[in-house]
Amino acid sequence: MAFFRSVSRSLLWRHPKPHASLWRSLSGAAPKEERIDAAGYHVAGGPSFMRGAVFWEPNRPLTIEEFHMPRPKAGEVLIKTKACGVCHSDLHVMKGELPFSSPCVVGHEITGEVVDHGAHTDTGVIKRFPIGSHVVGAFIMPCGNCCFCVKGQEDLCEAFFAYNRAKGTLYDGETRLFLRSNGKPVYMYSMGGLAEYCVVPANALAVLPNSLPYTESAILGCAVFTAYGAMRHAAEMRAGDSVAVIGVGGVGSSCLQIAKAFGAAEIIAVDVLDEKLQSARMLGATHTVNALKEDVVDKIKEITGGMGVDVAVEALGKPLTFMQCTKSVRDGGKAVMIGLAPTNAMGEVDITRLVRRQIKIIGSYGARARQDLPHLVKLAETGIFNLQNTVSRKCKFEEANSAYEDLNHGKIVGRAVVELM
Ligand SMILES: [Zn+2]
Ligand SMILES: [Zn+2]
Repeated sequence: MAFFRSVSRSLLWRHPKPHASLWRSLSGAAPKEERIDAAGYHVAGGPSFMRGAVFWEPNRPLTIEEFHMPRPKAGEVLIKTKACGVCHSDLHVMKGELPFSSPCVVGHEITGEVVDHGAHTDTGVIKRFPIGSHVVGAFIMPCGNCCFCVKGQEDLCEAFFAYNRAKGTLYDGETRLFLRSNGKPVYMYSMGGLAEYCVVPANALAVLPNSLPYTESAILGCAVFTAYGAMRHAAEMRAGDSVAVIGVGGVGSSCLQIAKAFGAAEIIAVDVLDEKLQSARMLGATHTVNALKEDVVDKIKEITGGMGVDVAVEALGKPLTFMQCTKSVRDGGKAVMIGLAPTNAMGEVDITRLVRRQIKIIGSYGARARQDLPHLVKLAETGIFNLQNTVSRKCKFEEANSAYEDLNHGKIVGRAVVELM
């Protein structure tokens, strides 16, 4: 009985493509349970070290360092990273605006190829993500077991915030990253995606069909994920709603496309750069407002016949735009906040209007990996969400610093993605 069980498990490991772990299927003889579960074999025959981009302290450039090959534990998957998006949240960490354990590897929006599973990983997980499969990873990596995860509110996962965001580790309180030179631990912002390999809890992954490219699909894991969560769960958008998006960079411009996919009647893009507003039109905006030239709230009211929009989204995390967002919604409308701000940043609200006119101010962070990420993959696969038009720059691993610098100076129109082929 045990023999059959272990045989069928070992078959799951096999992949038609020749791979580093091929020896497992070539090893002949009756497979033993411990051979399958032994973590020691990871990427057997493959490299024993990798490179990753390390953040050391605020306002110091990332450096590329060598690491021991990370080892996944139970329920985790080792991924050969193919692409990693360049996001403002990383930048907040790099500028010291959001405190995070350091040194750490930043990058939290990835695609890649499955190369290994942690020992004792459930066979269901191995079946879903066999070696060689293409995957996309969400930046909120649900533990699957906390009180929020069991309710389906994986975007509030306790373990993710308590361990990853507060300590830079996975959910056993340990990082998977250790420097090759001295063995010292390096923390992980989400999965630490700006590295040649990364360890991701399987709950954060979805299979990427081969028809979708690695590079462009990376943005599904944060920019598009965040936009989808805001529209689906926070705004509970309905077809025919009017929507305004304040700040149309990577996440904001994804909001435009998701709003369109959900059937928004009017989509108003607000930004200070005409270039971004122009590309917003391509992504579904029916109206644009340049906040440097026009009064944002007046203009949104004018476009909506004096009412204000059903849903306004703030994607910048600034006190001024926070206020504009709350003022742009109609009575009973929803102001959804998705822009992270430096710690302790405050926003102002007209209290009486909020009370009398039943304004809803809703915070939204990411989305729910297991239920939402497969939907996003479908939207991209069917072309309902256009990935190509959102990714505006591709760069090499070694160019990551300059990509973050350009992001800092507002020079990236859509999203930049680092390729780690
Ligand atoms: Zn992000
Ligand atoms: Zn959880």
